[in-house]
Amino acid sequence: MILPFKDRIALVTGASSGIGAATARELARLGATVVATARRRDRLEELTAQIAAAGGNARARAADFTVESEVRDVVASVEAEFGRLDVLVNNAGVMYLEPIETASMTRWRQMFELNVLAMMTATQAALPGMRARRDGHIVNVSSTAGRMSNPGSGGYSATKFGVGAFSEALRREVHKDNVRVSVIEPGIVATELREHIAHEETQKTLNAWASSMRQLQSEDVARIIAFCVGQPAHVNINEVLVRPTDQER
Ligand code: NDP
Repeated sequence: MILPFKDRIALVTGASSGIGAATARELARLGATVVATARRRDRLEELTAQIAAAGGNARARAADFTVESEVRDVVASVEAEFGRLDVLVNNAGVMYLEPIETASMTRWRQMFELNVLAMMTATQAALPGMRARRDGHIVNVSSTAGRMSNPGSGGYSATKFGVGAFSEALRREVHKDNVRVSVIEPGIVATELREHIAHEETQKTLNAWASSMRQLQSEDVARIIAFCVGQPAHVNINEVLVRPTDQER
């Protein structure tokens, strides 16, 4: 069962592609008004036009979530326009896989800025309203890399283990205010994520591994996020680990 999302206001980060775009479409299809944010304005506008053509409601907000003030401005603008923010999906992320010894500090910093600090900032900005209304749901997109660490994923896994650690403390702080927290941990999903890996050998190995299996599609993860958010208020799905059937580890 998924409850209808009519009158729910959802903010989805990293919505210009992949899991975020699919989640924005799915939440809008189920009746939510969706604010889609990422840096690529053209992609966001394409997405919101598609949602509108399908009869849904969506807005685009271009922002760089590695900049704290931009994160806070986006959350504030949603509350200013709609008077509330019910569902925050912290999905924006980058995955710069490379061996630890030669890894770029700049890329590690960028990953922490986006995967961890942007999630923390958006959460902090959304909480006062959610707690005051005693109504809210925060969905944090982690990864199987947030449960196990592999060679080449030291930096990325450190960010995703961070997502899990933060989310559990958050859940325990806010459950009494009727604010729910869900962590989603997908395995391999066919998206643009792997295109940005600068370490050629790691990228090649990962792409070959991904091609050897029936990968998850963004829509598969989006359905799971909608399922979590669409539960009755007393049901808090804290964690979902989802792999392609063909993925062993
Ligand atoms: P995509 O690369 O398709 O999506 C990443 C999103 O993050 C894009 O919308 C991108 O938009 C946005 N983003 C990147 N940098 C910034 C920034 N500085 N400010 C704001 N937004 C930014 O990959 P996925 O859909 O796969 O990734 C979504 C999430 O899922 C990530 O957190 C990822 O770690 C996680 N995940 C993915 C898996 C996979 O196999 N694909 C597996 C497990 C977890 P733009 O460039 O327009 O800013």
